[in-house]
Amino acid sequence: MKPSMIILLIIIVLLFTLAAELIRYVIYRKSMHFTCPKCKTAFKPTLKNFLLSGTSNSASAGKMLTCPKCGKREFMEPEKDRL
Ligand SMILES: [Zn+2]
Repeated sequence: MKPSMIILLIIIVLLFTLAAELIRYVIYRKSMHFTCPKCKTAFKPTLKNFLLSGTSNSASAGKMLTCPKCGKREFMEPEKDRL
């Protein structure tokens, strides 16, 4: 395999990861929110916060997010919005 092929493959994998994260973001944004374990503020993460939260492992739906109120970076589990 040529080195350029490997680079192309890496780019494709990254694009798929990004696309998967964007889909997750849209779903979360629509029906989920996160609650800060420190100050109990319920919030919806911004796209920037969401994408910068690190790679999500498939074993858990939680994300490393920064609380918009107290600024604490914590691992937060998503919760369904109460309608
Ligand atoms: Zn907080």
